[in-house]
Amino acid sequence: MSLRFSGLTNLNSGSPIKVETPAKSTSIFASNVFTLKVAREFLSDEAFKSLQASIRAHQKIDRSMANQIASGIRSWAESKGVTHFTHWFQPLTGTTAEKHDSFFTIKSDGTPIEQFEGDALVQQEPDASSFPSGGLRATFEARGYTAWDPSSPAFIMEIGEGKTLCIPTIFVSYTGESLDYKAPLLKSIDALNKAAVEVCNYFDKNVSKVTSTLGWEQEYFVIDEGLFNARPDLVMTGRTVFGHSSAKNQQLEDHYFGSIPERVYAYMRDFENEAYKLGIPLRTRHNEVAPAQFECAPIFEEAGIAVDHNSLLMDVMDRVARRHKLRVLLHEKPFAGINGSGKHNNWSMATDTGVNLLAPGKTPKTNLMFLTFFVNTIKAVHDYADVLRASIASAGNDHRLGANEAPPAIISVFIGQYLAKCWPMLKKG
Ligand SMILES: [Mg+2]
Repeated sequence: MSLRFSGLTNLNSGSPIKVETPAKSTSIFASNVFTLKVAREFLSDEAFKSLQASIRAHQKIDRSMANQIASGIRSWAESKGVTHFTHWFQPLTGTTAEKHDSFFTIKSDGTPIEQFEGDALVQQEPDASSFPSGGLRATFEARGYTAWDPSSPAFIMEIGEGKTLCIPTIFVSYTGESLDYKAPLLKSIDALNKAAVEVCNYFDKNVSKVTSTLGWEQEYFVIDEGLFNARPDLVMTGRTVFGHSSAKNQQLEDHYFGSIPERVYAYMRDFENEAYKLGIPLRTRHNEVAPAQFECAPIFEEAGIAVDHNSLLMDVMDRVARRHKLRVLLHEKPFAGINGSGKHNNWSMATDTGVNLLAPGKTPKTNLMFLTFFVNTIKAVHDYADVLRASIASAGNDHRLGANEAPPAIISVFIGQYLAKCWPMLKKG
């Protein structure tokens, strides 16, 4: 009890910290990302084409090209004050992982040099023994490899005064099994591309690539650091495990879309600026329905990049909150009796000819390509419901599903009134 009272006396009631915001977000957008535009500047014609082909058509990058690309990335990173690099990956912990290495090395004759070669860009062998593997292997055989994913651009993470070059990677075992969330995602994107292009070609021979697109939404709670520290359950688990509901709770739901408190507003602008520098296209911010709950959402992107950006943003949000003497709760169900924090996925497929395959258009009844993807997507959800359900099951999310305003723990498909009317017609056909 006294802990909670001292938490209250430690409340950080001071004015919000000042956040320098540029007049236009475009002036800082992707300034810390090795975009294709930057690549054009730092790579030879040959190396640039090789990188481009690898991103667009998944073509392999050979060793000499990898050396050239690595050296271009290092020149860019050093021009921005970077001294270290890391393979950045997503092990089965729900967070991101990084092990920093310096560009600094010593040659055989003892000369110190700065170096970043193709081998270091393409593959690393972090000691992976302590990452979860679902019982896949024992500690003594726990060799794991990270491998460069060129489809997601390298970026520079700024932490205080320090800057680190991050290379997005997949994480696999010595025997080739996926040990992360990224490798299965990339495999599924590739499988869907192959299958969907074949179907599209019945309707349009010009389609050569189908991309999965994803627009996520991130809900979160923000609380004062003093109050956070007064709750050992929050500190230890990210959620409250006992306690009492407040008198008002969520009953009036008047927090939803309400005016944003000034201190939280400063926090939002601060992490948005950090996100823009990393090329995360945040668009929306608002109060969510539970007390002290908020939401942000970016413009949709290719699914692999969108997932990287979500993982990256959660990390950024956590760091920036501490700057403001706040704590962000990203747990899916931090408090009983009020809404948890969902991560809604607005998912679709887009062709390289610019067609959204799940957009019904003005005349869905006669849009045969749409109807084909529409029924097949529903069939896929039906046939693979168990895999879908397993992929969203976590200790946190299973507290949320089926509770306040969250979707039920079973999977269902809602297609809307108009398309429901088309449905019997399709069955007859
Ligand atoms: Mg929401």
